[in-house]
Amino acid sequence: MPKQIPVPNELSKPFWDACNQRKLVVQNCTSCNRLQYPPAQNCAKCGSAAHLQWKQVKGRGHILEYFVVRDSRIRRLQADQPFNLAVITLDEDPGLNFLSNLPGTPPGEVPVGGPVEVMFEPVEGSDQLIHEWRVVK
Ligand SMILES: [Zn+2]
Repeated sequence: MPKQIPVPNELSKPFWDACNQRKLVVQNCTSCNRLQYPPAQNCAKCGSAAHLQWKQVKGRGHILEYFVVRDSRIRRLQADQPFNLAVITLDEDPGLNFLSNLPGTPPGEVPVGGPVEVMFEPVEGSDQLIHEWRVVK
C-alpha cells in the first residue's frame, strides 16, 4: 500500500539514515540508561540533551493491539482499505511503541500478543526505506 514519504529533519535524520541501512535505532539516554522513541530533543525523564545517543535495537517486538481501518480520511490510503493498523511494543523496552500495517497479514487476521520483527520497505517515489513489522511465523 502507498506510504507517506518521510521528510527527515535534523532530529529524525539519523533514524531515517539507519532505516536506509536496514537498521532500527532509537534514542538512548546514557544518564538514565533509558531508551526513547519517537525521537525528541531531550530525554523525557531527566531533560538532558547531551546524554542522548542513538542505539541500534534488535527489532523484535510483540503485537499489543490492532484495529482494521475501513474508513480512513486520508485519501491516498482509501484504495487499500481495509488494512491493519497494529501497535507494536518493542521487546527491548515494552514502553516503546511503533505502528504498523503488518505487511503480509490479512486484515482482521492479526495474532494479538504474537511476535513480530522489523523489516524495511521502499517508499514509492523516494529512495527512503521505512520500517514496518511482520508477523514471525
Ligand atoms: Zn535521561
